Amino acid sequence: MKIFNSYTRQVQDLVPVIEGKVSMYVCGPTPYKEPHIGNAVPVVRYDLIRRYLEFKGYEVNFVTNVTDIDDKMINIANEREITIKELASEVITLLNNSTKKLNINEPTKTLYATKFVDQVISMTRILMQKGYAYKLSDGIYFNIDKFPDYGKLSGVNLNELEDGSRIDVNQEKINPKDFVIWKFHKDGEPGWRDPLKQIPDGRPGWHMECSAMIYSEFTDTIDIHAGGQDLTFPHHECEIAQSEACFDFKFVNIWMHNGLLNISGEKMSKSLGNFITLSEAIKKFSPMVVRYFLISTHYRSPSDLNDETIDNAKNSLSRLQNCIDRLIASDGFDNNDDSELDAQIQNLFDGFVKHMDNDFDISGALGYVFNFVTYVNSALDQEKLSSSNIEVVISKFKELNAILGFLIIEKSDIPDHVTDLADQRLNAKINKDYVLADSLRDKILELGFDIKDIKKGYEIKKKS
Ligand SMILES: [Zn+2]
Repeated sequence: MKIFNSYTRQVQDLVPVIEGKVSMYVCGPTPYKEPHIGNAVPVVRYDLIRRYLEFKGYEVNFVTNVTDIDDKMINIANEREITIKELASEVITLLNNSTKKLNINEPTKTLYATKFVDQVISMTRILMQKGYAYKLSDGIYFNIDKFPDYGKLSGVNLNELEDGSRIDVNQEKINPKDFVIWKFHKDGEPGWRDPLKQIPDGRPGWHMECSAMIYSEFTDTIDIHAGGQDLTFPHHECEIAQSEACFDFKFVNIWMHNGLLNISGEKMSKSLGNFITLSEAIKKFSPMVVRYFLISTHYRSPSDLNDETIDNAKNSLSRLQNCIDRLIASDGFDNNDDSELDAQIQNLFDGFVKHMDNDFDISGALGYVFNFVTYVNSALDQEKLSSSNIEVVISKFKELNAILGFLIIEKSDIPDHVTDLADQRLNAKINKDYVLADSLRDKILELGFDIKDIKKGYEIKKKS
């Protein structure tokens, strides 16, 4: 299994620290506003990668986080006159509602930054004791001159980097590029207290949160640390500096960075008027088209959302799904088995694995799936598959779909109009319109389904 390591800029073999197990950490969202479709890129692409590693037999400890304390969150919660906790839970509910539709497997663990402030405080103390960090009037800063590898991951030229570009300017800093690891408490902001009172009350810097969560969750070097290309600098660069300076160990074996999403060749932004939320995209294109669209581009490449690329995704997906639907509808043709079938299946999996083993070359891998679909369609046209062979082919598609996750092989017994009502009810609850939420619940019950609220949104079951 070969993976491109952004740190060395080379493809290398995956050699997990513990044989048979892969530890993987993916930087998660900051829940300050409704997620847009770009937020789904890392979620969907690392879901594919995790599923493929599991298919290869690895036990994957897939950990992600929620940055539930941040400058933007403080500002927006203040503007909207709600608590930061309320803001976070509102956005996380929306996100979970969407990821469920996109068929994202639940992470092994989701860590919330505010639960790890004690670890941030401990690391800050250690960094100060070791001389890597120093105290200014507004916070504690990391001195990058003490960490010679700073800049190696991103390859940024620190001399050419303008002061203040992506790093807060503070005239007192030793090096203008030094970054904050602990921000001192200001009025109107949440703050935490150091039980040993060695550092003043305050809150963690963003980069420090990930370092502290990783330190708490993993005891050794992590096999894979992943995130969007936009996080390479300064976020991941700072994570490496803090963690390695603090504990004198190799922080990460393989760094993976995913390409980002553009809309018709441009960056998505409110000012360009091309902003599309994740729930809008799912509604407009269907969840499986969104999943297919985001997965079918190599994880390191950018995706461009435009009419043509979405049409291509729709057409490709329906070619695959039509084949599945034909198989499910067919009873098979008796005494007319196809001798080619075994070789076709072998060829499919050999080709798929060969490409995925090569830094998750999904286009190459999907090429083999489409060839197999061409074969299955012609075998069905020629009435060549017996009912037992139809079962075999369906089971092979199920194996593939455990990795790809965009095919619908077993019909859900929850009709779309019931799921729609449940979504409307969830939105009503988020908007605190409990009267509407209750009436939608009654409608769902009338239709013969039970609905239960769970952490990730809701669960619907047919009434027994
Ligand atoms: Zn992070």
